[in-house]
Amino acid sequence: MRDDCIFCKIANGEIPSATLYEDEDFRVILDLGPASKGHALILPKEHYKDLCELDDAVAAKVLPLAGKMGRAMKKALHFDGFNLVQNNGEAAGQTVMHFHMHMIPRYANGPQMVLWNPGKLDDTEKTEIIEKVKKELE
Ligand code: AMP
Ligand code: ZN
Repeated sequence: MRDDCIFCKIANGEIPSATLYEDEDFRVILDLGPASKGHALILPKEHYKDLCELDDAVAAKVLPLAGKMGRAMKKALHFDGFNLVQNNGEAAGQTVMHFHMHMIPRYANGPQMVLWNPGKLDDTEKTEIIEKVKKELE
């Protein structure tokens, strides 16, 4: 746990939060600036800056927990779908540098969000990307 990390303090109960769920490894809280009704954050109790630092055993529990929360929240709040959003790095919009997964409920006829303009995959770029990434994975 980091003394200078607000999500460490929230996840470990040092700072009170609107908690929906807690277990040994995680706390799930309501986001203070919700994108929609029920917007929640899954916070590991251990500090990891982002997905690239996340421990594999902890990572393996994130999606099952998101599924469990999604099922319960859908029944409770009657939303029609939800997005999982997980920002890594400032350029990607990460503002709190403690790994967290957003669960954003979506309501039929609700506002548009989590969108991008599709480009076109360029053939030269495609080859270059595949070569470079595969090399890093070796
Ligand atoms: P991100 O931009 O992915 O780093 O998301 C950080 C999220 O944390 C934002 O949606 C904020 O509204 C939310 N947030 C920041 N501080 C708090 C807090 N003290 N309690 C609940 N949510 C928070
Ligand atoms: Zn932290």
